[in-house]
Amino acid sequence: MSYSVRGEEPVVVEALRVRALPEGSYDRLLEFLRLYRDGVQMVVDRIWSINDKLSKKKLHKLFYSSLVSTGFRAHHAKEIYIYAKSLVDSAKSNGGRKPALRKLSARIDKYDYKLDLDNMTLTLKLHNGYEAKLRLRTLRERVEKYRGWSNYELVVKYDRSGFWVSIYFRRTIKPLKPRTVMAIDLNFDNVTLAIFTPTGRLIRLKRFKTSQRKILTHRIWIERIQRRYSRSWRFIKGVKKAIDRHGERIKNISWGYAHKLGDLVAELALRYCSIVVLEDLEKLRDNKKRSKKFNKELTLWFYRRIQFCIEYEARERNLEVAKVNPRGTSSKCPRCGKKLAENKHRVLKCRKCSFIGDRDVTATLNLYRKYMSKYSRCGVPGVALNAPKPNENPSGMRGKEMRR
Ligand SMILES: [Zn+2]
Repeated sequence: MSYSVRGEEPVVVEALRVRALPEGSYDRLLEFLRLYRDGVQMVVDRIWSINDKLSKKKLHKLFYSSLVSTGFRAHHAKEIYIYAKSLVDSAKSNGGRKPALRKLSARIDKYDYKLDLDNMTLTLKLHNGYEAKLRLRTLRERVEKYRGWSNYELVVKYDRSGFWVSIYFRRTIKPLKPRTVMAIDLNFDNVTLAIFTPTGRLIRLKRFKTSQRKILTHRIWIERIQRRYSRSWRFIKGVKKAIDRHGERIKNISWGYAHKLGDLVAELALRYCSIVVLEDLEKLRDNKKRSKKFNKELTLWFYRRIQFCIEYEARERNLEVAKVNPRGTSSKCPRCGKKLAENKHRVLKCRKCSFIGDRDVTATLNLYRKYMSKYSRCGVPGVALNAPKPNENPSGMRGKEMRR
């Protein structure tokens, strides 16, 4: 899955990769794939030594007619020289050698295939007017999802296991106009989510326990086993198997958790029509709040997974997602910006302005503030939120002026 922004409308692209069984003989299809590969190779060979910039127009002029005269359709030809060019470009930028193609794979434009989702069949237009019909081998539910999306390109591959196709689907999201802001703070023990109105009033607060401890228990088992068999664990079958089993459990627990949470969070966000504000984990490097004594890598990996699911589920519901730098969000006073001190267990206090707040709630408040100051003042399209004035305090807090 990937998101890209074209103009102002975000686009979601997903590939559906499935086995495909040819109906009847597939000699022509194989022939096509070989011709295609040779076509790409021919273009690669010819442009490898050309150091000038090659525009699409130039490529067209150089190769179109010869490819078409081999029996390719117009869009086959286009796909071939563009693909060849991208191979050459990437080989050159990596300082590699001239690509030599072996695998049988072809990129096919949407004008050269017909996809029938009702009957789960795919008809490919091949060279010299031939056609090949393939049956898609997958569960109907997997395909159902893409009804209403537009498909634009696909890749057919042939290997020892048979034919595979990856069909690319695209959907434009029309984001809902957010009415509230949902800030989400991830922590070792729990996920805290808070929904704020544009004026900064907290209208919903929810905490979910994470499954981090369970995950960590399995991780500790793995480490214990590895320590005990420090030299040999890789080679003893039973030991390796035990480690794999714990690894498998970690994967299952975390995916299961992340999916469920993503769904719950997105449902709630939909109900309140929120824009979802997450911590930008890429900027987490110098944040010390996380896992001093715990497994840092594992924690971060788990956070990423949770965020991925929240983001995915939110976008599925046409909700917007924004990320803000989490720096300082769990250690600074949301009112005056001073460093907070621990008051009681999980409660923080500001010595300067006497703000008191639960650690996780404080973090969501800071995320909300950061989002508001970063985005709403420069006017994100479609976001009808009012930025708080520089000297205005959010969430009805009274006290000294905000310092920036
Ligand atoms: Zn303060």
